Amino acid sequence: MNRMYLIALAAVIALAGAAFWAFNTVLEFEKPSIAVKDDLSTIGQGKALALTVADLKSGIRSVSVTISQDGKDAVLLSQTYPKGTAEEALNIDVNPRGRGLKDGPATITVVAEDHSWLKNRETLTLETAIDTVPPQIGLISSAHNVNAGGTGVALYRVSEEVTMTGLKMGDRFFRGYPFAIQGKPCHIVYFAVPSSAGKGDLKILITARDRAGNESSALLPHLVRGKKFKADKITISRAFIENMSPTFRQQDPRVPTTPLEAFLFINEKLRDENFKTIREACSRTQPKPLWEGPFLRMKNAAPMAGFGEERSYVFEGMTVSRSTHLGVDLASTERAPIESANHGSVVFAGPLGIYGNAVIVDHGLGLCSLYAHLSEISVKAGQAVTRGEALGASGSTGLASGDHLHFSILVGGEFVNPTEWWDAHWIRDNVTGKLSESASQPAAPAAKAQPAKAKAKPKKKKARG
Ligand SMILES: [Zn+2]
Repeated sequence: MNRMYLIALAAVIALAGAAFWAFNTVLEFEKPSIAVKDDLSTIGQGKALALTVADLKSGIRSVSVTISQDGKDAVLLSQTYPKGTAEEALNIDVNPRGRGLKDGPATITVVAEDHSWLKNRETLTLETAIDTVPPQIGLISSAHNVNAGGTGVALYRVSEEVTMTGLKMGDRFFRGYPFAIQGKPCHIVYFAVPSSAGKGDLKILITARDRAGNESSALLPHLVRGKKFKADKITISRAFIENMSPTFRQQDPRVPTTPLEAFLFINEKLRDENFKTIREACSRTQPKPLWEGPFLRMKNAAPMAGFGEERSYVFEGMTVSRSTHLGVDLASTERAPIESANHGSVVFAGPLGIYGNAVIVDHGLGLCSLYAHLSEISVKAGQAVTRGEALGASGSTGLASGDHLHFSILVGGEFVNPTEWWDAHWIRDNVTGKLSESASQPAAPAAKAQPAKAKAKPKKKKARG
């Protein structure tokens, strides 16, 4: 009796289990899900279709993607999957070129089937428009005569709505911002010229990508004036390191306890990390110019070190580390007032590693100024500041050997020589002048753009400080 009961119970459990399994796998009625992230209302060269297909119960059996136009079908993907494939992320090339399709309306169909007995099927239809014509770029500004380590500004027009545009120089990219000259829409880009740039060794491209993913680029004619930067040897004493490292260690327990290792960590690893923080702060730039007129230079201050100086650090007779000085050091009295060089918005205010207490002000369109080693900060991130407004007081916080201001300018997250931005003539010739000169010129087709001719006009050097 008892035994019969047990057998019956086991059978019931087995049946229930089998039914449960069948219901959840082979006999389920749930269709696979198809999720598309991108906007595919228009497709062109370089556009991809990113989609996620999922079937959590019986798994995905197959996925197919087809594009149809005027009764013709082109298969973009046809794939089968083994049992147990619950989710699949796909990135499908939907470039219509070479598939016998022409510009105009088309339909993309995605079909996904699962492994259940019923082969549950989901179909997703996307209406799209094929557009394979890349945006045209017309340069507006001319005579891009730039200095190594300096800033360049270019103005251009694009023939259609773009999702990405800017200036490419090797692996550097500078975003172009929508702008207007006398009510006519165009784009403006500020770019940083590498300190190492010499004559003719830079390839500068203006690029643009439209909504369909078509990309085009145009060479920016330019002329680089090379510049030799000073080399400077700095002797680091054991006492100097032992004096400053406890403060760094308080903020960052990773700072090693042996003097040389501590210095190398601060001067190299921390410097790199601080640069990332600076770039991140500068990326929160506003898409319009906030600044006006020449940037202010710290009042009554003597220059202590210039931009681009190649520093080598000597410890107990050995060169142990190197860095490039990417700003200008200015010294006045101790705890001297520090003012914002121009109108802008504070994007960073606080301790910043080797820069000590630092303030970063955004001036719009990717242009930022940085004030380092402050003893005191009187502004907060998010605050708007005007030209000459107090930011704090000078000091020697961070990696500094005495009370001074380290002043930097950044363009698109790259350090540039600040002296240009102090110079009213440079600003007129290279920035504001370009805007008024461009206002009277029609956009030149990029293909016909001629290389910039060097202006023979010699530039007067101004004595500063
Ligand atoms: Zn400095």
